[in-house]
Amino acid sequence: MAKKKKVTRARSASSNGKAPKFDRVLVVSAHPDDPEFGSGGAVAKLAKDGAKVTYVIVTDGSQGGEDPRQKDSELVAIREKEQRAAAKVLGVKKVEFLGYKDGHLAPNLKLRHDIVRMIRKYKPDLVITHLPGRAIDAPMGASHPDHLAVGEATMAAVYPDSRNPRAFRSLLKEGFEPHIVKEVWIPYWTSGDYLVDITPTLDLKLEAIKKHKSQVAKPGLEWDFEKWIRKRHREVGKKNGYGYAESFKRIKV
Ligand SMILES: [Zn+2]
Repeated sequence: MAKKKKVTRARSASSNGKAPKFDRVLVVSAHPDDPEFGSGGAVAKLAKDGAKVTYVIVTDGSQGGEDPRQKDSELVAIREKEQRAAAKVLGVKKVEFLGYKDGHLAPNLKLRHDIVRMIRKYKPDLVITHLPGRAIDAPMGASHPDHLAVGEATMAAVYPDSRNPRAFRSLLKEGFEPHIVKEVWIPYWTSGDYLVDITPTLDLKLEAIKKHKSQVAKPGLEWDFEKWIRKRHREVGKKNGYGYAESFKRIKV
């Protein structure tokens, strides 16, 4: 009996999550490696399905290292190179680095303005970004202050700024016309309402994460990320009967 009930639930969750088609996707993330950890499997799937995916990485990643004596410029160059390599694995066409100082973000008008420029430049149907609020039930890393700032600034950039011709009018002079985003997906630690089956792309996600060598192979940081990621996505997938899944909050704008 219990089993039968579970299948019914899975069916309804599955139809709720019917794969939509997107031509252009913009992933707006705070740090190098965030897109891969948060949505790497979905990104690979969207790209395989024909979407042109672009990354916007807001900070330079310069506070992410363990060695305070390492030059910022050296670390920034490493992080950019690794991010480009990871994006390539997933089929991402372009990576834009906005160059904000890592750890110093606020969801202010300047950040909104710069994200609106990216939205108007790439005209995405779908934007993937961070949760614009602290997730108390998630590990602390998920709610890095830069993630909160990017999440909030991106939501404001999607609505109302990007679509509003009277917002940030200097962008019109640069040739960036208003654009309406159709959907926003936010990787969700707990109760996401949209699961993406990443069974066919999990290996690509892991391969892409491994490109962030300076982050996942830090000396002294002994954690088996591959084991952890497989376990997490297996658990998330169970709800819909998927081998592995990423969980999102899906917002139809
Ligand atoms: Zn991050």
